[in-house]
Order: sequence, then C-alpha cells, then structure tokens
Amino acid sequence: MDNKRKNIRNQEYSELMDFFNDLNEKKFRLTQLSEWLWKKGSESFQEMKNLPQSLKEKLEQQYYIDKIKPVFQTSGKDKTTKFLFQSVDDHKFEGVLIPDKDRVTACISTQIGCQLNCSFCATGKIGYKRNLTTGEIFDEVFLLNKLSNDIFAKNLSNIVIMGMGEPLLNYGNTINAINIIMSENGMGMSPQRITLSTAGVVPGIKKLADDNIKFNLSISLHSADNEKRSTIMPVNKKYDLEALKKAIKYFYEKTGTRVTYEYLMLGGINDSIEDAVKLTEFTKISPCKINLIQYNSTEKSEYKNTSKEKLQDFFNFLENKNLIVTLRKSKGQDINAACGQLANKNNIL
Ligand code: SAH
Repeated sequence: MDNKRKNIRNQEYSELMDFFNDLNEKKFRLTQLSEWLWKKGSESFQEMKNLPQSLKEKLEQQYYIDKIKPVFQTSGKDKTTKFLFQSVDDHKFEGVLIPDKDRVTACISTQIGCQLNCSFCATGKIGYKRNLTTGEIFDEVFLLNKLSNDIFAKNLSNIVIMGMGEPLLNYGNTINAINIIMSENGMGMSPQRITLSTAGVVPGIKKLADDNIKFNLSISLHSADNEKRSTIMPVNKKYDLEALKKAIKYFYEKTGTRVTYEYLMLGGINDSIEDAVKLTEFTKISPCKINLIQYNSTEKSEYKNTSKEKLQDFFNFLENKNLIVTLRKSKGQDINAACGQLANKNNIL
C-alpha cells in the first residue's frame, strides 16, 4: 500500500467507469474486473487472466487491493476455530468459524478495536484503531467460507456480525459489504442467514429501518434498567433505553422484522427476577426473541457467571410470560474465541 494509489474496492462504480472510458476500454472489462475483485477474491491485478496486460498495468499504477490474509489460527475442543487476520497496513483482527451439526457460522469483525468500551468485553480494552473497509469485511466472509470448506468440507451457512467493533458505527462499509455478500456478483448469500448485532446505536437502527434491510437484527441489551445499563454499557448514556425503545419500534414498523435481544447473564448484576420483570416490560414494544448468553470470562474479568438455578429461574420467568427465549451455548471458550473474548491481547498486539 502507498499514498498515491487508491483502494480499488473503495471506488464508486462511476469513478471506475470514468477510468475505463479514459482508457477507451469496453464496458465488459469493468464487469470482468468486478468479478475478480469480489466473486473470485483476487489478491493482485496480475492474476486477472482475461484482462489485457496493458490494462492490468494501468490498474496497478493507479490502484491497490486491500486484501487481508489469515496469519494465525487456533482450534478449540469443540472445533470452533479462531483466525487472526492481517490488513495491508499491518493491523490484526479476528474472525471465528463455529461448526454445529450441519451448520458452520462465521463470526466477523467490522472495526479494529471498539470505541464503546462495554465493561464485560475484551475488545474495548484494546482501544479503537480504525474501521474495516468494505473489502476487508467482505474478505473475512470470503476467506472464512474458503477455510470452512478446507476444514469442515462445508460452505458457510450463517454469518453473525458479532466480532470486534460496533457495526453501526461503521455503517456504510458494513452495509456495502453485506450487500455484496448477498449479491449474485459476490457470494449470493440469503439475508435470512445474516445477523447484525448492535450495542444500541440509535441513529444506526433508524437508518437500517429506512434502508429497509432484509437481514436479521440483534440488540445487545444486557439490562432493561437505565442506570444499570449505563454502568455496564457506556453507550447507554448517549442513547438511553427510551431512545432505544423508540428506534426498535420504528424498525419493526418499517421492516416487520422481529429483533433478537442478546442478554448477557452477569452473576449478581442483572440476573434477578426484578431484572427479568424489567426485561419483559421492555420487550413489549414489538415481537421479539430473547437470547440469554452465558458470560465468558476475559483477561481482566470482574464478573462471575450466574448460577444454574438463577439462570433457570430467569429463563422460566420469561417463558411463562410467553416470550421466545433461548439459552445460547457458548463455544470456543478454551481458545478465547467466545463472545467478547476476541482481541485477546497476546494475539492482537
Ligand atoms: N458491538 C456489537 C457487536 C459485537 S459484540 C454489539 O455490541 O452487539 C457481540 C456480542 O458479544 C454482544 O452481544 C456482546 O455484548 C457480547 N459479549 C461481549 N463480551 C462478552 C463476554 N465477555 N461474554 C459473553 N458475551 C459477550
């Protein structure tokens, strides 16, 4: 990478059209280029076999491809496999493959580090470096799909945007990448198999509604009590529960899609029946699902797990209120690949 050349996968289609027109290149060359950049996942212009050599050289002079590469991988007892990716400017970030019976789910990152600093999450602790680009987010899925074929002999069945970073603070690049992943010119993945998770960035949720997205939305709620939520998730000071409620209502009205609430069970913090009552109240705004998540300890862990009995009581309470509740099995704990454990310091820095 250098300062003069431009990132080709960041260019507007119209800019590339102009570039091709100036060179008197035919339009179909742009289609060919685009296939190499996305569908075939090229790392260099030289490997674009059906483009004339002169065009490849012109492209090389003007542009670079910000292709990421896997530099490290580690597998857990449950076959969950964590990958460390490296960007062309030498940043590291993580993606995870989670196999389960007939499925393989990829968990991908959208930022290098995170600005939100949730108290239970490891990513916040490493600070924020930068947004991932559209190309880099696409590459994670592309490469994880390839790796899933190598390791499990299966294509990816699902994608969860629950790795490092807050996707709605990198809205444009994340949505562009998802659009390409869904498009026939990219990976042709169905929107029902994609889930974006947010800590509750209200303007982003409204924008998803206005953009009438077709993929699934998860909200990391973790507490339906304003004061409590602000202490564990500082983002709540900016967008409190009232604002979040309004945004979710708006999202449901516009898209008709039920959201999923992620609720991390933190022993003695948010796991009482009183907390369950508040959660029930909050979720009345629209049809929804609730995922209870077990806490995964991180390096500077200050929380403990909810006891089995308390978890069962909490679960039963919600079910008795006719809510759809699931208890999410946590995978990859032994390799620090579980929720909130990415950005494990030894690997990242
Ligand atoms: N910023 C987005 C996506 C990344 S976090 C969001 O907040 O949703 C993905 C999920 O992992 C979130 O639900 C998050 O709250 C959860 N998580 C973070 N740290 C965790 C930990 N230590 N144990 C279990 N889940 C955790």
